[in-house]
Amino acid sequence: STVLIWFRRDLRLFDHAALYHALKNSQRVIAVFIFDSTILDGLPRQDRRVAFIWHSLQQLKTSLREQGSDLIVRHGDPCNEIPLLAQRYKANAVYTNHDYEPSAILRDASVCRQLAAQGVGFHTYKDQVIFEKDEIQTQAQQMYSVFTPYKRAWLARLDDFYLRSYPVQPYFDHLEKFIDGALPNLSELGFDDVNVDTYKPGMQGGELLFEEFCQRITQYREARDFPAIKGVSYLSAHLRFGTVSIRELARIAKQIGGAGAETWLSELIWRDFYHQILWHRPDVVGHAFKPAYDSIVFPNNCEYFAAWCEGRTGFPIVDAAMRQLNQTGFMHNRLRMIVASFLVKDLLVDWRWGEQYFAQKLMDYDLAANNGGWQWAASTGCDAQPYFRIFNPITQSERFDAQGKFIRRYCPELALLNDKAIHAPWLNEAGSSAIGDYPMPIVNHASQRLLAMALFKKSINLG
Ligand code: FAD
Repeated sequence: STVLIWFRRDLRLFDHAALYHALKNSQRVIAVFIFDSTILDGLPRQDRRVAFIWHSLQQLKTSLREQGSDLIVRHGDPCNEIPLLAQRYKANAVYTNHDYEPSAILRDASVCRQLAAQGVGFHTYKDQVIFEKDEIQTQAQQMYSVFTPYKRAWLARLDDFYLRSYPVQPYFDHLEKFIDGALPNLSELGFDDVNVDTYKPGMQGGELLFEEFCQRITQYREARDFPAIKGVSYLSAHLRFGTVSIRELARIAKQIGGAGAETWLSELIWRDFYHQILWHRPDVVGHAFKPAYDSIVFPNNCEYFAAWCEGRTGFPIVDAAMRQLNQTGFMHNRLRMIVASFLVKDLLVDWRWGEQYFAQKLMDYDLAANNGGWQWAASTGCDAQPYFRIFNPITQSERFDAQGKFIRRYCPELALLNDKAIHAPWLNEAGSSAIGDYPMPIVNHASQRLLAMALFKKSINLG
């Protein structure tokens, strides 16, 4: 029998759940990927993520060709393309991995229905997380909405079984031998070939980055909060597109052990946590996790929002972070927390606006993690910051970028200020000549903080 393996957020040819099951169950496995026009049509020409996917597919295709097989790549609506491909190749079944985003769940249900009408099976597997859906529940069979007990239960449930790799290589002779055309060029797809070399796309890039990170994982706990140093793994885009295997990363982190690796494993658990929240509560897309917070009416000053997006709020740490995002598609986690808090609680702009902006710009954009992060910072989410805990952008800057190294990288106009003045240039004694065009702060933190507290308090009391 012939089967299709449909690649989506899992662009690798090792430790792959759906591929393993396809290869075990069939002697003729055909790999396919669809550039989803329903997503691509809404993106700008210069989208780093499309370039990352394209380069990752190139590696996947080359590896499949080394096995005498190939990767079929189409551009269109998967709800049409997958049933068409199943028909064309007379497939008995389509194999793929779970996707927990609400729109992907609808898409898969539609594909499944159409395939069923053609007499074709649709088999899906857990692959992108260690524990999914309701695998980790409270004793009362409820979802966890607080991280620490979730993590405890997650670690208690973990054993070698869940970290085992799916051995696909031994079955590679079950890949169908054929040749398909070349990958469509990015320009044919309507995109520019943006340079994504720093992200090291593809499974080879993911392996390289992880190997490199393992050399410094023992320092992760101390180094992870400082954006000017190489403390974190930079693997988020690889986790997003599945060019690395979550089982392999978690297994190796566990083997290495110690405070650094354990703290890093904890971050991977946050990832599972937000995925299960999204699966249980798809309404968090567009709504506060805590319904009372949905009644907040944010003033939403458009000029403030534009200044935030463009990195010209007059708060150097915020501006440097936003410029990093705009220029590179990445932002350090500490900075994501700072700018998110600043947008909501200093500028009083709806967290959904910020969530949307991140969704457009982040290379590692992931609905579950992004929504979770924004709702955490906005105090509207599960296990979020209490609304009265408001980051002070200046003290955060002094603490996590003490010498202003990160700020100098992205706000060169402030480079000449000393380490103290760089966090709040408007207090600088040398006057405006030392800071060139750099703007004055658009708001006063102390007074905005009081406004934010009043706004949140009023809504919660009403809610
Ligand atoms: P590391 O510190 O090396 O962590 C390893 C991996 O753990 C990450 O790659 C990521 O997959 C996972 N992880 C780490 N922190 C979190 C977290 N808080 N929640 C969920 N998973 C986590 N992460 C995304 O992958 N996509 C997003 O769209 C996203 N948006 C965010 C928005 C906001 C407002 C905030 C506060 C956080 C967001 N995060 C998001 C989480 C986190 O900032 C990034 O995962 C991290 O900065 C990526 O860098 P890294 O791979 O070097 O992380």
